[in-house]
Amino acid sequence: MAARSGCLPCGGDESGLTPVSRPIPKGVTPATQVICGLCQHSALRELGRLPALPSASVLLCEACQFAVLDPLPGGEELAAYYASDYAKEFGATDPYNPKFIAAKRSKAINRMQFLNEQFLGIGGGLLEVGCAEGEFIGLACEKGFECVGIEPDAVLAARAVSSSGCHVAAAMFPCPLPIDTFDVVASFHVIEHVPDPCAFLRTCASYLHPGGVLYIATPDLENTKYEVTHHVFRPCHLTYFSAAALRCAMLASGCREAVAIRTDVCG
Ligand SMILES: [Zn+2]
Repeated sequence: MAARSGCLPCGGDESGLTPVSRPIPKGVTPATQVICGLCQHSALRELGRLPALPSASVLLCEACQFAVLDPLPGGEELAAYYASDYAKEFGATDPYNPKFIAAKRSKAINRMQFLNEQFLGIGGGLLEVGCAEGEFIGLACEKGFECVGIEPDAVLAARAVSSSGCHVAAAMFPCPLPIDTFDVVASFHVIEHVPDPCAFLRTCASYLHPGGVLYIATPDLENTKYEVTHHVFRPCHLTYFSAAALRCAMLASGCREAVAIRTDVCG
């Protein structure tokens, strides 16, 4: 990938950075010397301390509306969070509860509908990175895709295999898969959990054949109104994107075109 010069959002040089598109809330203080990992802009602002992890600040890049935890939680901190608060919130859900199944199915239908609306006639091979219980790949199979899933949680991966009938690798990402293989690589609400989102996107894209579609969903930073008390701000979410920032990240990661659509915060 060619080296970037200047700001991705506005395409200008350092002196021509796009002004802040949204006023920074009162009381926000400038951060220390930190550079945006997405557009290299140096004027990051501290939105506040993470309520569930006061040792970490949320830093917002004024130029591209990308935010990151600083410092990133360590492996032990994250492991403790995933084993306690995260497990209580997400891991304790009864996977056989009809309401839970209906909600997962509804979300998968919406995501598939969106894919079909954006890319008429799309089909072929589909990889989902972080497929959880396999609802989306199961639906994609019904629609004629040949699906593969990756899911690091062995219990969820086993459920995905039994519910979808697809091949699911119970593995951390990235895991060995043939590159240039898939027509669609999808990943829903995973990118915010990884420390290097551009590396994540590049690896996801490497599994696509030329012209394939990288389909990413992540919470919309703008829907939080930049208030760190919003439930989206949590220790396992290492980075946060506005629609424009996600578009920048995708272009910076080698995608030829990027369309970013805002939906609800968890769409
Ligand atoms: Zn930036």
